[in-house]
Amino acid sequence: MKKQPTLIHSPPFPKNYSSDFLLLKRGRGAWLEDAGGKRYLDFGSGIAVNHFGHGDRELARIAYRQMLRLTHVSNLYTTSHAVKLARELVATGDFQAVHFGNSGTEANEAALKYARAWSLRTKGEGNHHILAFKNSFHGRTLGALSVTWTKKYRDPFEPLLPGVVFADYNDVDSLRRSFSPHLAAVIVEPIQGEGGLSAMTPEFAHELQALCDQYRVLLIVDEIQTGLGRTGSLYAHTSLGLKPDIVCLSKPLAGGLPLSATLISERVNAQIHVGDHGTTFGGGPVTTAVALKVLRRVTNAAFLESVAEKGQILRRELEKLSHLKVVEGLRGRGLLQGIALRSPDGKEPPIPALIEEARNHGLLILRSGSNVIRLAPPLIIKNKDIVRGVDLLKKILSHIEE
Ligand code: PLP
Repeated sequence: MKKQPTLIHSPPFPKNYSSDFLLLKRGRGAWLEDAGGKRYLDFGSGIAVNHFGHGDRELARIAYRQMLRLTHVSNLYTTSHAVKLARELVATGDFQAVHFGNSGTEANEAALKYARAWSLRTKGEGNHHILAFKNSFHGRTLGALSVTWTKKYRDPFEPLLPGVVFADYNDVDSLRRSFSPHLAAVIVEPIQGEGGLSAMTPEFAHELQALCDQYRVLLIVDEIQTGLGRTGSLYAHTSLGLKPDIVCLSKPLAGGLPLSATLISERVNAQIHVGDHGTTFGGGPVTTAVALKVLRRVTNAAFLESVAEKGQILRRELEKLSHLKVVEGLRGRGLLQGIALRSPDGKEPPIPALIEEARNHGLLILRSGSNVIRLAPPLIIKNKDIVRGVDLLKKILSHIEE
């Protein structure tokens, strides 16, 4: 008989999460096992975090050894891994410094604070405005939430930061209309990871960069979901010709441990004073030791090529689903791909039910926006598992057509 998922109902977690959780026990590579021994193919990577899958022995060994040596030193001191990691991150682009934090939202929080300090100190008061985009997602703390579009995330916490303007993503006219010299910065994702997986067009990127230059506005690129190899290149913004002043990284940076990096350019760093920002845990010895190994792996050209190849295989397999009536189109790049669904009766496609159905079939998937199934497998997934996962998806999607 087919094993049922092992669920735990209403543990004492706050009600902002769902009430039923899949109780996971262990993982190896792209596979997970729940507490009852049922196995799952992981097409979600813990929401685009686990680039190297589960149970990576080398990363685990680095973390273990570092914990025995030194676990925490605070930002009053540092360790050689943190310094090396900062140097190597800075060298990935035109940056001078890195602020380490613990999560994606903190990376963006730091970016917004740096941008506002830069603007105040170079352009004066009243120039604190931030331009963000419809369907964006930048995090849940109040600053990052203020530049996040989704109404249901924002509404309970209004009023949020003043001076935030939202333009239409990939709409050059809307972009032009939204620009003003009062902007401190623009914050943007190269692919909208939570907002339906729309990818920035080259025309839009070109205009965005030109307007930032013309109005002397900082460009913050949120690569928290797209960065560090997921799309088959180190960063998703590079091929768009963007020259960001600030880049935000997190999710995969420390192999599943919490770490973020806000990379800042020389002109931003020049305006930051002692005491402007800080954190207790960010850039600690363990997370930076692991991240140094992660960064060296994801900057390896052969590794990035293998991700691009796997991305092509995933896309090719997904194209075989295009004939299904429920499939509206495909989105994304590399190993961040989406299937946009249409709903024959005009209602939202039943994505939560599909996610549950996939889980019952032993496949873990994600959603993005209201109508997109998001697939973000570990970057080390075997080609045959890509094919296997998409076959399962085909079975599940064919059911809802019946
Ligand atoms: N920015 C982007 C593009 C994200 O996808 C996310 C998380 O999904 C965040 C920021 C927030 O990251 P965290 O949940 O680690 O705070």
